[in-house]
This record gives sequence, C-alpha cells and structure tokens, in this order.
Amino acid sequence: MILRYLGHSSFLFVSDGGVRIVTDPFGDVGLSFPRVRADGVTVSHAHYDHCNTSAVEGAFKIFDRAGEFSLGDVKLCAIERAHDECGGKKRGKTLVFFLESGGIRLCHLGDLGENFSEELCSRLRPVDVLLIPVGGNYTIDAAEAKKYVDAVGARIVIPMHYFVKGLKVDIAPPDDFLRSFENVEKRKGEIDLAAELFEQKCAEKDLLRADRKGLKILYLERSH
Ligand SMILES: [Zn+2]
Repeated sequence: MILRYLGHSSFLFVSDGGVRIVTDPFGDVGLSFPRVRADGVTVSHAHYDHCNTSAVEGAFKIFDRAGEFSLGDVKLCAIERAHDECGGKKRGKTLVFFLESGGIRLCHLGDLGENFSEELCSRLRPVDVLLIPVGGNYTIDAAEAKKYVDAVGARIVIPMHYFVKGLKVDIAPPDDFLRSFENVEKRKGEIDLAAELFEQKCAEKDLLRADRKGLKILYLERSH
C-alpha cells in the first residue's frame, strides 16, 4: 500500500491492486489541493476542510456514512465518534475510517475531538498505521494525541490536521506532538507502507529485549 500526504487531513492511498482512495479532500484552507484521481473518497464529516470532493478527479465512490464497505482489494469500515469533548454537542460527529488491504490495517481518525478513553482505544486496536489529528482547537491536541498513540499500539503513526505555513485554520503546529516521541522521521513524497512496517518489525526484534514496542512517527511533508 502506497501512501502520499496531500495536506491537512487528506492522503492518497494506492492498494497493491491499484485502487486509489483519497481521504478528506479540503476546500479553501489556504493550501493548494493537488490534481489527484481516485476510485474512492472518504469524508469524515461535512466541514469545508474535509468534504471538498469536487477537488478530486475521476468517477469515484464517496464514503461518508458509518458501515462496512469494499472497493476492489480494499476493505473499509467507518464508525461514528465525536468532533468535540462533549459527545458532539459543539461540533457534531466525525467518522473514524479503517482501511484494510494487503494485510495492512490503517486507521484515519478524522476530526476526533473526544478526550482519551480506553473504550475508544479498544475499538481501534489492532491497527498497524494510525493517522491522528494533533493541532488542537477543533480536534484533540498534542497531549491527548500522545495518550491515544501510547495506548493503541500502532507501529507507524502519522500526525495530521496541524498548522503549516499558509494554513488559514487556527490550529497548532505539530512541534509539541513530535517532541513527545523519540523515533521521529521526516519524509517527503510517496511511502511504501509494507516496506516501512517490515523495517519496523525488524527493529522491534532488538527492542523486544529491552521490553519496548517499536513505534515510528512519520512526519510527512506535502509533496506538491
Ligand atoms: Zn478539520
């Protein structure tokens, strides 16, 4: 599974079978959205910075409801959670998406705003790759995100929904989140998740002796 960061909460996944899925395409947030073709588009909720499906090219299927779906060799599952810390009373609901393909299970937390709970973590596990908002204000912040990362046990974690130069959304940069972990790697362009996970599993063999679990934070730069 190939992954490319398009900015904010938007990513492009390409499965081994060539199925292309874009998550949360953004509208006018101050960043340019690249030309990208998709077979499927996931929308966590109907806010302008997540639901601009008109920016995506192709005859794609839209996934914007809770449930279980499939598209070629990709299995999708969406569950409804809260966009704030009071059950959705302030900002409504957001979908958490699970994408499974080629033996890799990935989770995109949407605009999750709920404070840490073991109940939610138990619904996320097991997950190989976790995409988590860290910018605060409209979502969980760096400190809350760290609690989820520590409890969920994903091997690869990718922060999203944070401030970058040019963004017009009032959220924090990823620095606090990145500073709270040891193993942070900055990347640009497309990454091969199977290769990243394999590398991580090899590193874990050494870590196991020290009774630690392998975790790599991938800080992705937009590549357009
Ligand atoms: Zn948002």
